[in-house]
Amino acid sequence: MKAVRLVQVGKPLEQTDVALPEIGPADILVRVAACGICHSDAHYRAGVSPIDFLPVTLGHEVAGRVESVGEEVTHVSPGDRVYVHYLVSCGCCGFCSDGNEQFCAKAQMIGKHRDGGYAEYIKAPGRNVFALPDEIPFEQAAVMMCSSATALHALNKARLKCGDSVAIFGFGGLGFSALQLSRAFGCQEIYVVEVNPAKLASVAALGGTAIDATAGDPVQQIREASGGKGVDVSLELVGSAVTMGQAVRCLSILGRAAIVGLTTESLALLPYPEFINKEAEIVGVSDHLAAELPPLMQLARTGKLHFPPGTLRSVDLDATQINAALAAVDDSIDHIRTVIVPGT
Ligand SMILES: [Zn+2]
Ligand SMILES: [Zn+2]
Repeated sequence: MKAVRLVQVGKPLEQTDVALPEIGPADILVRVAACGICHSDAHYRAGVSPIDFLPVTLGHEVAGRVESVGEEVTHVSPGDRVYVHYLVSCGCCGFCSDGNEQFCAKAQMIGKHRDGGYAEYIKAPGRNVFALPDEIPFEQAAVMMCSSATALHALNKARLKCGDSVAIFGFGGLGFSALQLSRAFGCQEIYVVEVNPAKLASVAALGGTAIDATAGDPVQQIREASGGKGVDVSLELVGSAVTMGQAVRCLSILGRAAIVGLTTESLALLPYPEFINKEAEIVGVSDHLAAELPPLMQLARTGKLHFPPGTLRSVDLDATQINAALAAVDDSIDHIRTVIVPGT
């Protein structure tokens, strides 16, 4: 089968011919219908995030049709539309049994530790493969496997509930989903903090209030807009110590700041005024859980999470097109996501 693989870090991906994966009794072979091209794939290619073994087929945002199943698989059949959860965990350690499988010491990420979806077919354990409702296009399901799922996990970790006020720092892929998901949870008062004018301009159409961080301290702007109260939940999606501090300082009494963005900077806070006397919580967020994907799909099926026309563009399973898309990923200032659709 055709696969587009990372053979050497710092070099373009290569078009290769590899053997069709052989499946075990608990595995599923999926014919890839859509695979999202993610920012982290560009980081693997560039060597920004280390990769353990080469060559590897990248691609962790996968949807497609079941080609064949091992004899122990009963929940899907050949021909079924499916999506693939990218973290392959052991399924039996303490973290896996408690449903916190992202901490499984044996976990492997599809498209990093094992071959991913930049290929005609992908092999995955049966428990990583879920039935995809007919209403959701493959391309949309694929891009939801990463940023949308992590946005939902962040809101879950922050214990967001109906009617809470929310501040979202950063309006990229995660923020785009987090805003829609907050609306779906029944939240009305949602502030989106950004510096990019094009992104700020798209906030209102999705039901949020744009806060321009270049126009003054966003914490002050949020306090003024909320009548001095601050917000119940904040999400930090930028990955900078400045916005992390703002995400804590804009909290109301009993507020929760979910910190998702990565940075090597340290975060300085004044303990008493900034969180102790509010009993505010700072919650770390890492990845998402398999159990969060079916409810996420339900929100997409009912249109509460959607990707407006023009926000998904497709390329073929072709090394030249994929390398060009990976090069463009860093320059992206909008919400357009590129998806590999074999045969485009
Ligand atoms: Zn991703
Ligand atoms: Zn485990």
